Amino acid sequence: MKEIVLLKCGELVLKGLNRTSFEDTMIKNARRRLEDLGKFHIWKSQSTVYVEPLTQGIRMEEAVERLQTVFGIAALCPALVVPKDWEAICAAAPDYLAASLTAAKTFKVNAKRSDKSFPMKSPEICRELGGLLLSRFPHLRVDVNDPEVTVTVEVREKDAYIHKDQLPGAGGIPVGTGGRAALLLSGGIDSPVAGYMMAKRGLELIAVHFASPPYTSERARQKVISLGEKLLPYTGRIRLFVVPFTRIQEQLRDRCPEEYFTLLMRRAMMRIAETIALGEDCQGLITGESVGQVASQTIQAIGVTDCVTGLPVLRPAIGLDKSEIVAIARKIDTFETSILPYEDCCTVFTPRHPRTRPKPAEVARIEEEAALPPELFEEAVREAELIVLSLHHHSQPV
Ligand code: ATP
Ligand code: MG
Repeated sequence: MKEIVLLKCGELVLKGLNRTSFEDTMIKNARRRLEDLGKFHIWKSQSTVYVEPLTQGIRMEEAVERLQTVFGIAALCPALVVPKDWEAICAAAPDYLAASLTAAKTFKVNAKRSDKSFPMKSPEICRELGGLLLSRFPHLRVDVNDPEVTVTVEVREKDAYIHKDQLPGAGGIPVGTGGRAALLLSGGIDSPVAGYMMAKRGLELIAVHFASPPYTSERARQKVISLGEKLLPYTGRIRLFVVPFTRIQEQLRDRCPEEYFTLLMRRAMMRIAETIALGEDCQGLITGESVGQVASQTIQAIGVTDCVTGLPVLRPAIGLDKSEIVAIARKIDTFETSILPYEDCCTVFTPRHPRTRPKPAEVARIEEEAALPPELFEEAVREAELIVLSLHHHSQPV
């Protein structure tokens, strides 16, 4: 018995002329995800992608689980490969389906015949196989409207396939088809979710983290690395830049009125992230901001930080409630890491009464008066530490 996985490419179908390149990128990403599990043959035919194990003993559940994190796959179907021969189909189906049919009360059979030379037509396949399964699993009842299990027989060009219900894929569009952006990654709940959301829309990510030792600890830095690693199944490799931010924060604390501190700090972050982003061929920045969540996330404050960069700042969590963001964080398994209680540089020197409705001109003036030397910014970019996060764990020192 040979099991393969059929991949259905939801949204890709809509992309007209781009479709081929989208499918090819998805296949490339799927291939990379499975690389170290064994040898696979992956090919496409008629809007279905076939994933066939070539070596013995490959753990197919693990393969399916991994494929469920690859964007661009709407649904997956583990399926049994059988010769296009009615006897063979009838011989293999009951055993292959035994576990799910034993557990179910109702089922139906669904047939798809893209090979029109197959001697039986779809209704006949349904009727005959349905009858056979009923005789083998007499507790079952056929329910064509709302069955617990739908058994599908597909007769295609090369072989026939038998499968049960399909499993949900990660959806979205393949990473790498939408350009590249720099995620401002804190140790919080929101920014990893924001990164996940934009990767889902096809963007490749790099990440920028601001660290302020000794105000922020080595453990806070490790936490950010762990969060980045949690994203890897979805995003693929991430180049993470850890920017030394202490001197800029101290200078801002010493030189600007307290209530403007956070705004000026966030503008500094944007500028540094932009410089790194441009050096890494990115076309945008990503943050985890959500309107109204904290003082620095009023629409006015966002305006004041937005305007220092020429790059589009993508904020996919902007209209989500915290509980909605948390639900995604749990789904992608970043939540438990995010709530570990280590200081972020944003909680260092926080003003008691931050300005919540700043005006761009007023902030620009305060910033000019604070007059931080430009060398500080250049130095922060230059001294950023690059950590290459990859699923295969060969973190590269630079
Ligand atoms: P998060 O949960 O993502 O930390 P937050 O609700 O705590 O967000 P802020 O601390 O105001 O909100 O940060 C807003 C956004 O700014 C974050 O989502 C993130 O994109 C970015 N950011 C904040 N702190 C850092 C940091 N130390 N390094 C990089 N980016 C940061
Ligand atoms: Mg935060």
